[in-house]
Amino acid sequence: MNRMTRRERQVTDIDEIIKILDKSKVLHIGMIDGDEPYVVPMNYGYIMNGEKLTIYLHGARRGRKLDAMRKNPKVFFEAVCDVTPFEGDVACKYGIAYASIMGRGVAEIVEDVEEKKLGLSLLMKTQTGKDFTFDDKMASVVSVIKIGVLEYTAKHRPNPNK
Ligand SMILES: Cc1cc2nc3c(=O)[nH]c(=O)nc-3n(C[C@H](O)[C@H](O)[C@H](O)COP(=O)(O)OP(=O)(O)OC[C@H]3O[C@@H](n4cnc5c(N)ncnc54)[C@H](O)[C@@H]3O)c2cc1C
Repeated sequence: MNRMTRRERQVTDIDEIIKILDKSKVLHIGMIDGDEPYVVPMNYGYIMNGEKLTIYLHGARRGRKLDAMRKNPKVFFEAVCDVTPFEGDVACKYGIAYASIMGRGVAEIVEDVEEKKLGLSLLMKTQTGKDFTFDDKMASVVSVIKIGVLEYTAKHRPNPNK
């Protein structure tokens, strides 16, 4: 990916990146639908293996995003947390503090039932902090999408008034 402007805001500590993933809850997934961009907000789960990130999404078994991913599995994602507006003495000193992650990857519609159950458990863990298990029937009524993340960057803009 391109070099980040404002590199002093780049987050490279993996523990900090995990905190961003735990807090964000909603991810915007960008696809290429034919010759048009298509972006969908979704809840997600993830697993970080060393620095290798894999994201799981779930949803209905049909729809535009699944059609788009089947035709072109290249995706881009971003997620944001700790969004806090701050004030300044002049308009241009107002701003917004945040932490965010974005990256590119390859989407795969998971067919293996055991991996679907794993993806759903990871999703619930990320979303609720709790452990849930799924049976084959529960897994069969939804689609599970795995994003194998090829590259990601994270960024933190602190509140200058704190
Ligand atoms: C905070 C949040 C979390 C969500 N979490 C999930 C999730 O975990 N799993 C999940 O499957 N869905 C989730 N959704 C809904 C998701 O954004 C999509 O609506 C849904 O996944 C269907 O996508 P699709 O491409 O199959 O839509 P389709 O129904 O096939 O889309 C057809 C058309 O409907 C319109 N459309 C679709 N979705 C939206 C939308 N969200 N807002 C406005 N217009 C829309 C667009 O014009 C699109 O071209 C979430 C939405 C929000 C806001």
